[in-house]
Amino acid sequence: MITGKTQNLAVIGCPAEHSLSPCMQNAALAAARLDFVYTAHKVEPQDLAAAVTGFRALNYRGFNVTVPHKEKIMPFLDAIDITAQKIGAVNTVVNDRGKLTGYNTDAEGFIKGLYKALGENDTLCGKTALILGAGGAARAVLYGLMGEGTAKIYIAARNFIKAKELTVEFADIASETELAPILMKDGDADFAAATRAADITVNATPLGMAGKDEANRNNMPPVDFALAKKNALAYDLIYTPAETKFLQRATAHGLKTQNGEDMLIFQGAAAFCKWTGQSANTTVMKEALQRALAGK
Ligand code: NAP
Repeated sequence: MITGKTQNLAVIGCPAEHSLSPCMQNAALAAARLDFVYTAHKVEPQDLAAAVTGFRALNYRGFNVTVPHKEKIMPFLDAIDITAQKIGAVNTVVNDRGKLTGYNTDAEGFIKGLYKALGENDTLCGKTALILGAGGAARAVLYGLMGEGTAKIYIAARNFIKAKELTVEFADIASETELAPILMKDGDADFAAATRAADITVNATPLGMAGKDEANRNNMPPVDFALAKKNALAYDLIYTPAETKFLQRATAHGLKTQNGEDMLIFQGAAAFCKWTGQSANTTVMKEALQRALAGK
């Protein structure tokens, strides 16, 4: 029951109405018998500063931040934790008695999703990864993979300059990892070599995602899985559809696959823990997410 004592949480984005976070978070809050409620608010870019002021005034315990506010919100917060600073984006804000601190839980969500696919006892030390895309999610993936001691990471982008910039920006924390920027292009020799070398290939582009542009569903990055190692993992950050063309092709060539659903759940679980001090029941979150995805 919502009462005057109920604490508030939310997600802000533009749009926000399709967010799956309210169903996941409210299910986990109910399972933990916590007196919180989690809602979604559409915030237009020009209203972002006012929204942050509003959360402060209304004493929200915290909120998630999604597209297009993840980078723009940073100047309006009182502190940014080191992971969010390096990734350059905030997806979770915690309000401690009026002090707003920004965090990024996407890297943690990605890595937990990765170990779920690889097996908890596997290690990234000595492994090679290929990241497709050089945007916000790619930055979180790169940070997460570097933190796990991945030996070599290729960053492939349609714009080589963007891939190169990312390697330069992350060079200061790359003591254990060799970073290599490449052009993401069918037929490119370096891209083919990276595809052959990769133990893990991550799609961090929106290619293949269902949404406004339904034709995009039949797209995929120009990876030739015929070249890939037979025991490699293809990891798509997309979760709608559950099996993208990228994952279908990987499966057809005998690779292991993982989609973005677990990453979404684990980034949400990490945020839940920051707000409530308790662990989230990720099984309950997954069931709620799957019901929402099935439109139930
Ligand atoms: P973003 O910041 O816009 O970056 C997208 C990247 O993909 C950029 O490098 C962009 O290249 C590239 N790209 C876009 N269209 C392309 C095309 N037609 N061909 C080749 N490259 C293309 O987006 P993001 O926030 O990183 O999100 C990327 C994906 O990850 C989305 O599908 C998102 O839903 C997913 N995601 C999932 C989770 C999860 O929890 N599962 C979390 C975060 C993101 P340019 O820079 O040249 O445009």
